[in-house]
Amino acid sequence: MSKSTDHLFDLVIRNVRIEENGALVDVAIRDGRIAAIEPDFRCEAIESVDGQGAFAFGGFVDTHIHLDKACILDRCEICEGTLAEAVRETARAKAGFAEGEVYARAARVVEKAISHGTVRMRTFVEIDPRAGFRSFEAIKRIRDEYAFAVDIEICAFAQDGLTNEPETFDMLDAALSSGADLVGGCPYTDPNPSRHVEMVFALAVKHNVPVDFHLDFSLDPDRTDLPAVIDATLRHGWQGRVAIGHVTNLSAMLQADVLYIADRLADAGIALSVLPSTDLFLNGRGYEQLIPRGVAPAHLLAARGVVTSIATNNVLNPFTPFGDASLIRMANLYANVAQLLRDEDMASVFAMVGEAAARQLGVAGQMQPGAEATIVLLDSPGPRAAVREIARVVAGWKNGRRSFDNGKPRLHRPA
Ligand SMILES: [Zn+2]
Repeated sequence: MSKSTDHLFDLVIRNVRIEENGALVDVAIRDGRIAAIEPDFRCEAIESVDGQGAFAFGGFVDTHIHLDKACILDRCEICEGTLAEAVRETARAKAGFAEGEVYARAARVVEKAISHGTVRMRTFVEIDPRAGFRSFEAIKRIRDEYAFAVDIEICAFAQDGLTNEPETFDMLDAALSSGADLVGGCPYTDPNPSRHVEMVFALAVKHNVPVDFHLDFSLDPDRTDLPAVIDATLRHGWQGRVAIGHVTNLSAMLQADVLYIADRLADAGIALSVLPSTDLFLNGRGYEQLIPRGVAPAHLLAARGVVTSIATNNVLNPFTPFGDASLIRMANLYANVAQLLRDEDMASVFAMVGEAAARQLGVAGQMQPGAEATIVLLDSPGPRAAVREIARVVAGWKNGRRSFDNGKPRLHRPA
């Protein structure tokens, strides 16, 4: 790209950094794509925005969220704080879900996610005899309504088992024929976990879609469905199209065993979503002291070449009675819990809610000429500082169009 040009650009975002403490550059945008990234770029543009030194990147990517069952604390009774209670209470609540209220609850979370700089998310949607297709219909509308700001992919999900409830299999099959983007399962809630894994893969193969499993949610290293998932991934040639979430029993293993598993995951092209808020809330309930953290060591797996992300999972429900759909907050929580300290670790954690998370969902997510002009500004000199300080999210554009703006904080000093 030439230094000066007579072409008219749609937008130029000036004075931003694209590297930690890097030189200020201008980002010029035309037809929804990044046309140039250069210092002092001389051009005519319809709109010019001063980034005021902000860090500009491709936006946050939430690889694992449950929009359908968010914000239901008011209709659940939680007193144990265990996984069993969460599954039981949520199953009871979802029998009463109606399409309109699922839409309203999901919209509340999506709008928060947008204002926190999330530009892409994979949401699970439970489709079974209790939920029917009501949540699915609501989330499809959400996907359309908020496409101006966030790309949402829908995982048709069997939360409560398949072998024990064969009609769920047919319902997932129908959803995959009518707008679901991928299929997901949860072997640990099924009486026959390995058969469950096979049934989910059968749907993935039939519809030629990716797979996402909730896996090994315990602190017991010997109780694992991971070999079944690795075996099925290789047997079906699904490398690069399989993700697993939680795998909290990695937190109970010796580091040598974690690294052995990391190498198997990297070889099989299986990505991992770590879900710190839920994992911290539900694990270790039986302990009175020295409570285990129960969070998989994402940074060790990432360093071994596993595509690894940190994600929201649940918001304000029995699985996680907290949440604001902020990924920079989740990245900070992970880094804090994992006792990380080095700058390179902060950069790796930032990638787990940015570029690596995008890769997990099969997209590039990088700021470069030619790429989609989806850009988020952080009030930060760069990714490492952003993780340490939970950087404020300033504004965002999707395909060159402004999608949100958080305004500028102002101090009202006494006169
Ligand atoms: Zn989940």
